[in-house]
Amino acid sequence: MSGAYRQTRVEIPELTVEQRCSHMGEILHSYDKEEAILEAQRCLQCAMPFCVQACPITQDCKGYIDKVAQGRFDEAAKITLLGNPLATVLCKSCYHYCEEDCVKAGRGTSIAIRHLKRASMQFGSSDLLYVPLPSRGEKVAVVGGGPAGIMATWELCLRGYSVTLFEAQPFLGGQIETIPKYHLDGDEIEVDIARFRNFDLKIVTGKKCGVDFTPEQLMQEGYLAVYLAIGASAPGLLKIPGEELPGVFHALTFLLNSNHNPKGFLGRTDRTTIVIGGGDVAMDAARTARRFFSGPVTVAYRRSWEEMPATEEEREGITLEGVQFIAWRAPIKILGKDHVEGLLVARTELGPPDARGKRAVITVPGTEEVLDCDTVIIAAGQVADLDGFPKELDLKTPRGWPEGKGEGWACGMEGIFASGNKSIVYAMSAGTRTAEAIDAYIARKKGRTPIPRPHPFGEGPSVPLPTGYGEPSWTL
Ligand SMILES: Cc1cc2nc3c(=O)[nH]c(=O)nc-3n(C[C@H](O)[C@H](O)[C@H](O)COP(=O)(O)OP(=O)(O)OC[C@H]3O[C@@H](n4cnc5c(N)ncnc54)[C@H](O)[C@@H]3O)c2cc1C
Ligand code: SF4
Ligand code: SF4
Repeated sequence: MSGAYRQTRVEIPELTVEQRCSHMGEILHSYDKEEAILEAQRCLQCAMPFCVQACPITQDCKGYIDKVAQGRFDEAAKITLLGNPLATVLCKSCYHYCEEDCVKAGRGTSIAIRHLKRASMQFGSSDLLYVPLPSRGEKVAVVGGGPAGIMATWELCLRGYSVTLFEAQPFLGGQIETIPKYHLDGDEIEVDIARFRNFDLKIVTGKKCGVDFTPEQLMQEGYLAVYLAIGASAPGLLKIPGEELPGVFHALTFLLNSNHNPKGFLGRTDRTTIVIGGGDVAMDAARTARRFFSGPVTVAYRRSWEEMPATEEEREGITLEGVQFIAWRAPIKILGKDHVEGLLVARTELGPPDARGKRAVITVPGTEEVLDCDTVIIAAGQVADLDGFPKELDLKTPRGWPEGKGEGWACGMEGIFASGNKSIVYAMSAGTRTAEAIDAYIARKKGRTPIPRPHPFGEGPSVPLPTGYGEPSWTL
């Protein structure tokens, strides 16, 4: 370590508020090499790295930070890619759970672990190709090209399976494709998937399970297992009058089209917008509307600012970027005849505690008022689209995305598995664990032992897991 030890983080370069509100360009910029080395040198290289333990895919961040600190960016990139096939995506968009648990968080500021991943990808040779075991021609179908499906594809292909990845949309990425471009530029998925070129992998886009084919058909066609990684990709509805009016957008559709087809989809830009919701998706929608539309943007939420589930980063984002906020309001009706002309809301307050002591939000009679707007964006959560899926799958959807109820997320029909999760890296972790369960299931059928994850670059029998690796909570 050179020079005096820095307690505080090397500042991450970012656009000023004035610069960022006029376009969708990325807010955060990468460190230059010197800044990255300086920041990495703050890492204590802990014997028990809580950062690694906190990462849902146990990314060896301690390892790549060590290499960055020495200016050895090629080695840093390789360590990053060893356990993380979506590193280009995650180095800009991960919610960096690792940083919360970094020991430095309590003694100044945590190491900029995510941003150092970005430095390793940017300055190191990151255009490597993964090296799978020779294909045995054993077919597995993965339905859903989001992070859970992509991660499972990576795990299975590395182990020598022949995977077909089916995706309903014309592109891979799942909900990653809805992340605004001021967070994620747009071609990161392609960059990551390019490292899959040596796999026995067929990607089929624009085909929807339940419409174009069914899980049972796939099993009949000779797939040994099917993984349903379809996420919670349909928008939740408010079920209030006026929701069908022109001028009403659902956040998922709004954000997807803002990235893929802004001119054609958004139309006129002189809009006065109300966003309904208090999560990160609502904040993304408000900040995107702020950039595309010239009129005021307001977030209306049914609880207080303090109770809003959105992350600190997103709250700060809407505040700095001039989005207005109204607390304690519930939508009653979207007004208008041929187009949105206003939003009828009522004041809310906390009701009496229920059996578990939780106080629900109730509307206060006689407090209705009309909020001025001609555009409403609804961010009322997401649900799974299970149209055309057989009931015998016996799926549960307590958190939106469908999951099998059996061990390793096995479904009610043999050979079919389903899982997902709440963020990119958690969904990837679900993809890993489900792939392990699928491999164990096929191994049992074939009378062999499960295949441990091979070295992703073919340089050894298997990947040495970093210190701090936590075993899955279930056994096969
Ligand atoms: C606006 C927004 C911003 C977000 N920002 C972040 C962020 O910054 N960081 C972060 O970590 N997480 C973020 N998330 C959450 C994260 O994107 C999700 O948790 C994650 O993508 C879930 O992964 P998944 O693979 O389980 O499902 P999904 O990403 O939903 O992928 C499921 C895929 O299955 C496809 N599919 C669905 N049904 C079918 C079918 N019947 N047949 C074929 N294909 C089908 C879908 O088209 C989709 O591509 C964000 C989410 C949203 C909506
Ligand atoms: S993937 Fe996310 S949680 Fe894991 S080390 Fe990287 S930034 Fe941290
Ligand atoms: S916990 Fe923080 S200081 Fe310790 S190894 Fe991880 S990043 Fe470095």
